[in-house]
Amino acid sequence: MIDSHAHFCLVLEHGGEIKSSLEALRLAIDIGSTHSDLPERYNCLKDYPHILLAGGMGPWETGEKDNPKSINQITSELNILKDYIIKYNVKFIGETGLDNHYEYGTVELQEYLFREQLELSYKLSKPVLIHNREADDSIIYDLLNIKHYHTGIIHCYSGNLKLMNTAISEGFYISYAGNITYKSNSYLRDTLEYVPIDRLLVETDSPYLPPVPLRGTVNIPLNVKYVYKCISEVLNIHEEKLIEQVHSNFMNFCNM
Ligand SMILES: [Zn+2]
Repeated sequence: MIDSHAHFCLVLEHGGEIKSSLEALRLAIDIGSTHSDLPERYNCLKDYPHILLAGGMGPWETGEKDNPKSINQITSELNILKDYIIKYNVKFIGETGLDNHYEYGTVELQEYLFREQLELSYKLSKPVLIHNREADDSIIYDLLNIKHYHTGIIHCYSGNLKLMNTAISEGFYISYAGNITYKSNSYLRDTLEYVPIDRLLVETDSPYLPPVPLRGTVNIPLNVKYVYKCISEVLNIHEEKLIEQVHSNFMNFCNM
């Protein structure tokens, strides 16, 4: 199994264990959240070459709504991030994106930070890993108007069909997380049939979003098996077949 989006170090920080996941997963992406987390993540995972590193600043890096960072601070943090991305030769830019649910910083600062990283993905020829919460229209606009590398992932998919179609025509993959297993999220399961099977990816977003039946626990990457199980049931395909399909999608995505 692959896990296309996990935060291994944060799993440890939240009191979870990662050893079983490191042993059992075939490949995974360890996702960046802040401008400064790469050295620690590199040290934690350097003996596990099947865990691929990403580096990025999420929308939370614009500060709090009541206390947004200055544009100068964000720019200098972006420069730190760029240096680390080059120093550690990470394969992907992310996560980055827009979040209107938690209203970090300001809308303008979030846009600035996201667009800078889209352009960075273009300049460095690295796929971009996108976080979207309740910002479908802005993400669509940016995918159509801001230069970016020709592929990437919309992670923890929760968007509408217009965003899905735009992302797919822009070369992106659609990744589903543990929240697709939640009883109340039938709308998410309903979007599955619109994803071309060769663009589908599966993730945990651990330590967040533990899937059914593990809600309330610290999520670990190995729990991705419950997400595969749910998706295989909805799509009515054999679980092993789905695992193979997603693996080959991931290999294509990474150009491996
Ligand atoms: Zn994440």
